[in-house]
Amino acid sequence: MPLVKECVFCKIIRGEIPCCKVYEDDLILAFLDIAPFNIGHTVIIPKDHQNSITTLDEIYANRIIKIAPKIGVALMRTINAEGFNLFLNNGSVAGQTVWHCHMHVLPRFAGDKVVISSEPMKYDSMEQMSELAEKLFNKLNVQ
Ligand code: AMP
Ligand code: ZN
Repeated sequence: MPLVKECVFCKIIRGEIPCCKVYEDDLILAFLDIAPFNIGHTVIIPKDHQNSITTLDEIYANRIIKIAPKIGVALMRTINAEGFNLFLNNGSVAGQTVWHCHMHVLPRFAGDKVVISSEPMKYDSMEQMSELAEKLFNKLNVQ
């Protein structure tokens, strides 16, 4: 994983490499993805180098999630997107390639070529499903 010095998104924040900026405030920056899945594909980054959303301070996370739908709406109004996907790849297994956490805003058009799908799986049983939910619930709902 690159250090802040070599991180491409940190370089964009520092103005060392250019970007096509669509939004900026004190905490975050959003710009057009250089290899878009659709025209208008945007990435939103915190102005703090964190590899992962799991270590990102919630002040940045809150701002990202607040702005993401506004960018989606702007894409709908500007290039007539009919909807949008918000997604964040966390970890290489999930498709993360830039190790500065970021959210994607992907405008969608009827009949576009974007594929975000997989065959649905099935749980072996309702017990397996409810046991898993209980384990997660107990981890997440600590008093
Ligand atoms: P991910 O695969 O979730 O890590 O997404 C990283 C995204 O950053 C990819 O969609 C890249 O096309 C995009 N990206 C990488 N470098 C640049 C850059 N210099 N300017 C704009 N987007 C970039
Ligand atoms: Zn960075």
